[in-house]
Amino acid sequence: MTVIDRFLKYVSFDTQSSETSDTTPSTDKQMNLALELKKEVEAMGLTEISLDEHAYLMATLPANTDAKIPTIGFIAHLDTSPDMSGANVKPRIVEHYDGKDIVLSEKENVVLSPTMFPELLHHIGEDLIVTDGTTLLGADDKAGIAEIMTAIQYLIDYPEIKHGKIRIAFNPDEEIGMGASKFDVAKFDCDWAYTMDGGEAGELEYENFNAAGAKVIVKGLNVHPGYAKNKMVNASLIAAQFAGILPPHERPEHTEGYEGFFHLTGMTGTVEEATLSYIVRDHDKNKFDQRLKRLEEVTAYLNKIYPEGTIQLEIKQQYRNMREIVEPQKHIVDLAENAMKEVGLKPLVRPIRGGTDGAQLSFKGLPCPNIFAGGLNFHGRYEWVPIQSMEKAVKVIVKIIELNAL
Ligand SMILES: [Zn+2]
Repeated sequence: MTVIDRFLKYVSFDTQSSETSDTTPSTDKQMNLALELKKEVEAMGLTEISLDEHAYLMATLPANTDAKIPTIGFIAHLDTSPDMSGANVKPRIVEHYDGKDIVLSEKENVVLSPTMFPELLHHIGEDLIVTDGTTLLGADDKAGIAEIMTAIQYLIDYPEIKHGKIRIAFNPDEEIGMGASKFDVAKFDCDWAYTMDGGEAGELEYENFNAAGAKVIVKGLNVHPGYAKNKMVNASLIAAQFAGILPPHERPEHTEGYEGFFHLTGMTGTVEEATLSYIVRDHDKNKFDQRLKRLEEVTAYLNKIYPEGTIQLEIKQQYRNMREIVEPQKHIVDLAENAMKEVGLKPLVRPIRGGTDGAQLSFKGLPCPNIFAGGLNFHGRYEWVPIQSMEKAVKVIVKIIELNAL
């Protein structure tokens, strides 16, 4: 089976995860794809196959040499985004893309256009897999699964390529941030791993945000407005004052690259009580800590102006930048970069402006940078993937394994 055959088969499984569930997997249907993949790895003759009740599937391609080689892993996720249906996906292949608009659905007037998505123009002449405009495609992350499976089959078919022990894993619920939560790192037992996920051919990521959530709670004092002089404390206005003190240019809408931010995600307010909800993000650990300190300073400042205890601040750490885990073992990243170069790709090393399963796995003891899977416009009807990018990803996996054995 080619990587395309596999991909088309895997997207026929509806594996949408759900944010409102507290089980793992969050939706039973993810298990259907896990069971299918289990059958496939059995048929391929892989060993140490395990599928647990949470839909984490692991398997081993044993080493074919006695040389001492680190064990590496490749990981992709089973689920698709809760943002859009992944049921009855009807993929279509656009051969030799000509750079023009692609009508996804004539009936619903859904058009994939380079005017809106200029990345299309980097793929002229390639063969693109697109949706019928009514569902997402599921390249995130079934492209990753198809690439890993195809690469492993390639290594089985060409035993002259010497390699160490290779582990693969497919996990549920990445899209709801729970993909790493029940991942048994000890059982996976790798020196390091790569997630095959995310976008454009060449992308390689080992930096993500440090992240915290902050809640500001303001307690006011309500008095009849006609008799409020020197008595009323208006919680809503103090909350607005708090929000106004934070630097306006350090918001998501004004930042990119390595620039961090304070993001006001919600506010509620009456005279009696008001709350502000923030997420705080920064790649740099020092700057991140300074941001949290800034929130404390603003809280202390306002508590001096208003009755002590008027403003309360609650900070919740969310996730950390995997760079601090991966960087001391930079050879992990270098290996992937070299593999990309050897198969003719230009590595695009970029900081992730978000979190990843790989970050959580890194802090659980499995250093885990992310490598592109090739898909674009995730989580919606405009999702598409160039076949050539998937083929390159397969080559990158094979090359990493090959170089790791040298
Ligand atoms: Zn993904």
